[in-house]
Amino acid sequence: MNLTGKQIIGNDLAGGGTNSFQAINPKNGEKLATAFLEATATEVEAAAVKASQAFQLYRVKSGEERALFLETIASEIEALGPELIERCVSESGLPVGRIEGERGRTMGQLLLFAQFLREGSWVQATIDTAMPDRKPLPKPDIRSMQKALGPVLVFGASNFPLAFSVAGGDTVSALAAGCPVIVKAHPAHPGTCELIATAIISAAKKTNMPDGVFSMLHGGIAIGTSLVMRPEIKAIGFTGSYTGGKAIFDAAASRAEPIPVYAEMGSVNPVFVLPGAIKDTADSIAQGFSNSVNLGVGQFCTNPGMLLLQRSAESNSFLNQVAIEFAASSGGTMLTPGIQSAYTKRTAQTKSLNGVKLLAEGKTSEDFTGVTPALFYTNVQNLQQHESLAEENFGPSSIIVQAEEKEDLLKIASELSGHLTATVFGTPEDLETYKELLYILEQKAGRLIINTFPTGVEVTHAMVHGGPFPATTNASSTSVGTNAIYRFTRPVAYQGFSEALLPAELKDSNPLNITRKINGKWKGF
Ligand code: NAP
Repeated sequence: MNLTGKQIIGNDLAGGGTNSFQAINPKNGEKLATAFLEATATEVEAAAVKASQAFQLYRVKSGEERALFLETIASEIEALGPELIERCVSESGLPVGRIEGERGRTMGQLLLFAQFLREGSWVQATIDTAMPDRKPLPKPDIRSMQKALGPVLVFGASNFPLAFSVAGGDTVSALAAGCPVIVKAHPAHPGTCELIATAIISAAKKTNMPDGVFSMLHGGIAIGTSLVMRPEIKAIGFTGSYTGGKAIFDAAASRAEPIPVYAEMGSVNPVFVLPGAIKDTADSIAQGFSNSVNLGVGQFCTNPGMLLLQRSAESNSFLNQVAIEFAASSGGTMLTPGIQSAYTKRTAQTKSLNGVKLLAEGKTSEDFTGVTPALFYTNVQNLQQHESLAEENFGPSSIIVQAEEKEDLLKIASELSGHLTATVFGTPEDLETYKELLYILEQKAGRLIINTFPTGVEVTHAMVHGGPFPATTNASSTSVGTNAIYRFTRPVAYQGFSEALLPAELKDSNPLNITRKINGKWKGF
């Protein structure tokens, strides 16, 4: 397929812009084929208006129709074949195996949401029947369910060019909810974005979805901000930097009609290694930690950026083991020159901090955006003194913090800000002795993990990929897993509606045969 470099506005292509850019291959710095036009103000408006019009038709499509749409998107992505893999590898510098795996995850995510829609109980149908004889006043019949919010704007991430991008978790959960989607393409992988967008449009046509159910525009911060400010947009999904996510959140809050922004902005993901675990399983923890920090050149939002332990008879030999493992690691290709320079600058700054020791460095990658893995060491006092140590350094870097006493470890935990994950390695005895640590961490992270590393986020019904600020701008949600759908819905109650007028999900006859809560009790399992 020849890439056009144009905007995809529902079923139409538009190319009225004059500014253009090309993707680069981060392995060698070479420009890749196809110039991508930045969208114009007229194109931004056209996409927003089309999405708003499409919403009136799309919101009433049945769960079955939307499920078929999602399944067809998965087939169309598969049908892109090797062209998608090749373009994505060239634009991201990620290896073929990783991109193939990510394509599988992206398709699996679409299929999971299709199943979820068919099962149907996600709408949270709740029925409180009337009590006409209640004294002193009769109780009315009230029924409620989740309904689609409206057009959703999605900013994809650079580090998962498939699974968190154009057809990633934000888009899929919004489409599943009944919301049209406009994607602001990530400039690091515009060709991959166009290929996936054409697969979505092709699926929309094949399954009779309204024109405007999906659009995708290219452009920088100005285009992104003008989309945020469009009154047709009713919610935003974002994955990326704290700076980007917070700017979009602030812009959305300043609109005449403020809207929710679900920004997932990364995290340090603290890992606590308790004394018994160091004594019993130091080797495997040291190796697992080094592998986890270096996985995907550290470009994961669940990368363990801090390991905390308590001084013990075995802690020095554990530190030596981790340093040996880390020194054997290799830096790879970063996704973009911007991410490479941010990592290099931040790592140099950490090296210069008083009381922070460089414990080990891995091998430097000579690629265009190649970097050197770096492992640091400090104590509790220095951690408290240097605020930057508690902030994410996106890349293959981490810091080990050694506390003297259990109380120091608990104090650091209670001073943590919000994170996506918090991990504890411990023996059963450790976990009993440090129960309080788990209580503290439950208030700090979206996902608590025992005895395994946080990298790797399963797409399931129970997954929580979220957490308190600054990990996200909304601690009440998840951006991975089927519960992500509730970011793009709102509850609507129906009072005094006849059986004929009620939505199918709320009719007495329960034609969709879904599980519902009736007078406070779940029925239909
Ligand atoms: P990013 O710079 O935040 O960009 C993400 C998307 O948001 C891009 O499309 C970007 O467009 C747009 N954007 C950024 N700032 C904006 C603003 N003020 N207004 C409107 N749109 C804006 O993230 P990235 O390029 O993926 O990576 C850069 C850094 O983000 C990394 O160094 C890392 O720290 C962090 N990161 C975190 C995660 C995570 O999982 N949370 C994932 C990836 C990266 P433009 O590029 O055109 O500005």
